[in-house]
Amino acid sequence: MIDNATIAAIATPAGEGGIGVVRISGNDAAGIAQRVFHRVGRPLELKSSPSHRLHFGRIVDPATGDLIDEVLLGWMASPRTYTKEDTVEISCHGGPVPLQETLRVILESGARHAEPGEFTLRAFLNGRLDLTQAEAVLNVIGARTAETLRLAVSDLSGDLSRRLEPANAALVSLLAYLDASADFPDDEIETSDIDLGLTAAGEALADVVAGSNAGMLLRDGVRIALVGRPNVGKSSLLNALLRSDRAIVTPIAGTTRDVIAETINLQGIPATLLDTAGIVDTDDVVERIGVERSRQALATAAAIVFVLDGSEPPQAGDLDLARLLTGRPIDQQTPVAIVRNKSDLDAIADLSPVTGLLPDAPVVPVSAVTGTGLTDLESTLVAALRGSAAPEARPALISARQRAAVERALRHIRDARDAHAAGIPQDLLATSVRAALHAVGEVTGEDVDESVIQEIFSRFCIGK
Ligand code: GDP
Repeated sequence: MIDNATIAAIATPAGEGGIGVVRISGNDAAGIAQRVFHRVGRPLELKSSPSHRLHFGRIVDPATGDLIDEVLLGWMASPRTYTKEDTVEISCHGGPVPLQETLRVILESGARHAEPGEFTLRAFLNGRLDLTQAEAVLNVIGARTAETLRLAVSDLSGDLSRRLEPANAALVSLLAYLDASADFPDDEIETSDIDLGLTAAGEALADVVAGSNAGMLLRDGVRIALVGRPNVGKSSLLNALLRSDRAIVTPIAGTTRDVIAETINLQGIPATLLDTAGIVDTDDVVERIGVERSRQALATAAAIVFVLDGSEPPQAGDLDLARLLTGRPIDQQTPVAIVRNKSDLDAIADLSPVTGLLPDAPVVPVSAVTGTGLTDLESTLVAALRGSAAPEARPALISARQRAAVERALRHIRDARDAHAAGIPQDLLATSVRAALHAVGEVTGEDVDESVIQEIFSRFCIGK
């Protein structure tokens, strides 16, 4: 998986910017850099110069003597680098051509173009990061809200591994006991110790699984559909939610005429709000297309906000929508929150003919004009999205692969407990404990197949 080549790649995104960085890593990073870099003033011998310094100079094509760019070169000697190898980072002017030309002369001087994620792969293989930290790198780069970033950065410093460590430690010592008692059958281990070890391991793993739902929401975000007949205040509510928000996450491409999408930061969850044009039955062909899109928005949403005008009695359109929502197939029963909008107006209508049709939906009084009730609405939505399962669990930003491995470990622990309760011999118990330990090792990368590692790093961009 790793060769001795010195690798190089452009590490910054395509396009124009203030600066762009070309990164070189490997045994010959200094030698290759010196072939193309000319320090202004006096020549530079990187290997014998102090590490972690910047040098001003020029990139020159060694074959032609042509000047390519004026740059800053950073020299970082092994092992205090991202990859633990000798590393050079060259900050060029941030245009595609200066970067490509600089990379070209570096490759012509002996470096190999890096594969996607190869710098981080080397960091992992050289023991600088475990697999949870390597995957956290992806979450840091892809974070769409400050909350997600905070979690990802703490995983980068090993938080997820630390959460798994009690399980790892309990399983390791349990296995040592079990193996010892297989060798010295007279020293049977206390059965209470087995229970204790399995419980400790199970609890640490269950805590991570419990937080994985919230973590997935934070990382991947959700779609929330806004429905309501015309004039109840959907657009006003959408705008109010956008304004009340500290950070608008990302603009959404592909906004259609009839479904307007905006992404907000819903207490850390990137939530795309889909303002569906009034979903009503229609005979008009053009309108029917819009209605169909709105139905699709409903089907793909993780939660539905049903907006009513609280200042006037329910109308046929409100009742139609309520029936549409109750009539959805069971597998599409996404949570619904009812907004009683226009709560700033004195008129207070009886909405029970509509709300009565959706008895499970919380009703939140809101004024899209004054902003009253918006925080309650946000909290209601977050609670509905997180679901009833472990709403207080600390979020865990884990990938589907990591979650599957943790769940596998939990199953093996359950098997071990059942076996222990049934009085099955300890050497058979050890098989389940060993399998659980192996599954935990797949998360941290201590015990993982090469194909899994390759799949993980292929999701990185080139230069990372
Ligand atoms: P939509 O058709 O559902 O998107 O409704 P709009 O957002 O366009 O709002 C329809 C009308 O209701 C507009 O005149 C809004 O100014 C008004 N409106 C919306 N929300 C409120 C509210 O909370 N209070 C009051 N007083 N008026 C509102």
